[in-house]
Amino acid sequence: MDALKVKALGKRQLFLQHVAQTSPAPLAIDVVKASGCTLWDADGKTYTDLIAGISVCNIGHCHPAVVQAVKEQAETYMHLLVYGELVQTPQVAYAELLANHLPAALDSIYFTNSGAEATEGAMKLAKRVTGRTRIIAFNKSYHGSTQGALSMIGDEYWRNAYRPLLPDILHLNYNEHSSLEYITEDVAAVFAETIQAESGVHAPSFEWMQALREKCTATGTLLVLDEIQAGFGRTGTLWAFEQYGIVPDILLLGKALGGGMPLGAFVSSHKNMWTLTENPVLGHITTFGGHPVCCAAGYAGMKALIEEGYMQDIPEKEALFLTNLKHPRIKAVRSKGLWLSIEFDSFDTNKKVIDFCIENGVLTDWFLFAPECLRIGPPLSITEEEIVAACEVIVRAVEAVG
Ligand code: PLP
Repeated sequence: MDALKVKALGKRQLFLQHVAQTSPAPLAIDVVKASGCTLWDADGKTYTDLIAGISVCNIGHCHPAVVQAVKEQAETYMHLLVYGELVQTPQVAYAELLANHLPAALDSIYFTNSGAEATEGAMKLAKRVTGRTRIIAFNKSYHGSTQGALSMIGDEYWRNAYRPLLPDILHLNYNEHSSLEYITEDVAAVFAETIQAESGVHAPSFEWMQALREKCTATGTLLVLDEIQAGFGRTGTLWAFEQYGIVPDILLLGKALGGGMPLGAFVSSHKNMWTLTENPVLGHITTFGGHPVCCAAGYAGMKALIEEGYMQDIPEKEALFLTNLKHPRIKAVRSKGLWLSIEFDSFDTNKKVIDFCIENGVLTDWFLFAPECLRIGPPLSITEEEIVAACEVIVRAVEAVG
């Protein structure tokens, strides 16, 4: 498509016609630049990004170290061969960095293209390690949109149209002690988000997480924690599971893992991972998983996250949001680190607030299973001034929608 045709037809129209849509009403903002916490559109309007590409840009958009790493790796080599055959320095360096910041039992990293593919890999791994087939997932949980991950999605509305799905998957209530009774010796794995994202940011109790870990250990069931959104400092610590004094058997990573580039991973012990090498060999195959440019970007991003202190003032920033988000029409605000959910009486109210915010230069969104809740999960680099200004717009929006 040449530039003249784009101009004549209108980029928005071309976007709607040729870029496949699954949202009936996409935002369709024509973004021309992003840096830190700010997006610029084609008309020069700026937006404060309160959602970080849905928990991706934790160190802000286009962090210079990530940009530099991408450029250098693109000039060195890009794709070489399918996953796992050749020694690729960016993969090795990033796997080592991750392993150095994870408990000893999580020392083997399988890099994938996305979070959903990490979920798929973990489902397969759990079957191989345990020799069992049953999987437990939780209501209102989200682990991805591919067929296996979709089979675990915790909401019938989202599952129903795609049947038949995978058999032998049990959906239970998150953070309820009675659910743990169903974890028995025929269950391969329990998949749980350490902090449930799409229900509108729900943190389980310390006791429930401890009991979940104990029951999995007692029955030989693998505990898979999904930190695709919760990881990389979002909740105030590098990994959310640190706050619960437990270690999963498999950890799912994605989103911020790639520093803004597409990358996912399922992480387990070397012993567990080795089951994917035999009968059949090549137990999980991916052409692009662990792409060297993505691994170089992720490595630079994680180093910056740790070394530049983005996690240090999360409690203060969280408190600042909470102080500034007060209005009688707000039913509740839940938070865990720099991750907040503002609950309104209905989707209708929430949608009007979101539209007002976007109109006034604050980018936000709703949650998949909590459409009445407004999402806040900004880059951790957001400044106090940006927080105060964004909250002022949200409160003005709440007032305006009446
Ligand atoms: N798990 C969680 C908790 C997620 O939030 C998501 C994506 O939103 C996924 C898994 C799937 O990741 P991806 O969209 O990269 O496939």
